[in-house]
Amino acid sequence: MSEAHLVLGVLDGDDIGHEIVPAAVEVASAAAGHHGLRIDWRPMPIGRRALDTHGSTLPPGTLETLAAMDGFVLGPIGHRDYPRVPGAINPHPIMRKHFNLFANVRPTRSYPGIGCLYDDIDLVIVRENNEGFQPDRNVFAGSGEFRPTQDVTISVRVITRVGSERVARVALNLARSRRKLLTIVHKNTVFKLGCGMFVEECRRAAADFPDVTVNEVIVDTMAMRLVRDPQSFDVVVTTNMFGDILTDEAAGLVGGLGMAPGLCIGDGDFAMAQATHGSAPDIAGTGRANPYAMIDSTRMLLDWLGRRRGIAPAVEAARTMERAIIATLADPSARTGDIGGSGTTQTMTAAIVDAMRQDRPA
Ligand code: ATP
Repeated sequence: MSEAHLVLGVLDGDDIGHEIVPAAVEVASAAAGHHGLRIDWRPMPIGRRALDTHGSTLPPGTLETLAAMDGFVLGPIGHRDYPRVPGAINPHPIMRKHFNLFANVRPTRSYPGIGCLYDDIDLVIVRENNEGFQPDRNVFAGSGEFRPTQDVTISVRVITRVGSERVARVALNLARSRRKLLTIVHKNTVFKLGCGMFVEECRRAAADFPDVTVNEVIVDTMAMRLVRDPQSFDVVVTTNMFGDILTDEAAGLVGGLGMAPGLCIGDGDFAMAQATHGSAPDIAGTGRANPYAMIDSTRMLLDWLGRRRGIAPAVEAARTMERAIIATLADPSARTGDIGGSGTTQTMTAAIVDAMRQDRPA
């Protein structure tokens, strides 16, 4: 790729994805324009609409086409409402696996006036993405859940040394760039082997980061402490399902799921922007979807690609987006109802773009 040029896939997903993904593209395009960054957005079919047009929620060739790009934006997937037909599969675990995007980086941050439970939360949960308890991605073939008799179900949890160590390194590097504090969340008191291995590998990786203070918290205590003293956390690393639950809990502290962005990364230069929330079919098409999580996930994508590939305008574009988002969240007439505003997906998006026009970098 030449300097200041990115090729990014755009996959709307389902339901509110058709509203918030275009919002994210609009904002990121405007930011890129301010900094001379050229982004080729490549829309691709996925989800329910792809099932109707291509006979599959993940049309053949999608992964290969994406692999030739720098990364992509994936909207929320409403797989629970897919019809029970061949071709109707949940695409995102396949994508995370295929591109080895083993770390899901999910920030939680307070903004004033939007109904956060505290005004000073700034933490990031790094969730292991590809193994653990999730039966649709923790085995090579088949499912990590099975039913040997009509009345017995077994769910298998997979923890590997390599999977634990590599996600720990992502979290440690992130902590190093922030307040230098890492919290390992687990339950090795009960899952002596599984969580035991996870913690062992995190500790081993931490030995290479003497500048990062590392502590450990049992997951049930963590659930309580996130509510009581979320300010005491900087970067948190945990296994797949604990991370799934804790990131929703953390979102609840700062205004709800509309405020929960995420970036899926691996060892390479390729990343996927994906908000924490689902496709919210209950509000799809009403203009009530908060675009923040999707826009901020896309901001994270630009920032990460810019840093990994040394593309300064991408990092600058991400900074511009961040300032405009902060300015917009302060305006109740612009922001959506879930965060105490009277605006819509569109007014919020337009306000962010407008804030960028008036932006004067400090
Ligand atoms: P999944 O299991 O796929 O993550 P979910 O069951 O957690 O999905 P969501 O689709 O995330 O469900 O929605 C949960 C609730 O949060 C719904 O009431 C939905 O309207 C709300 N919600 C989710 N995302 C947003 C958003 N971006 N803006 C406003 N409300 C949202």
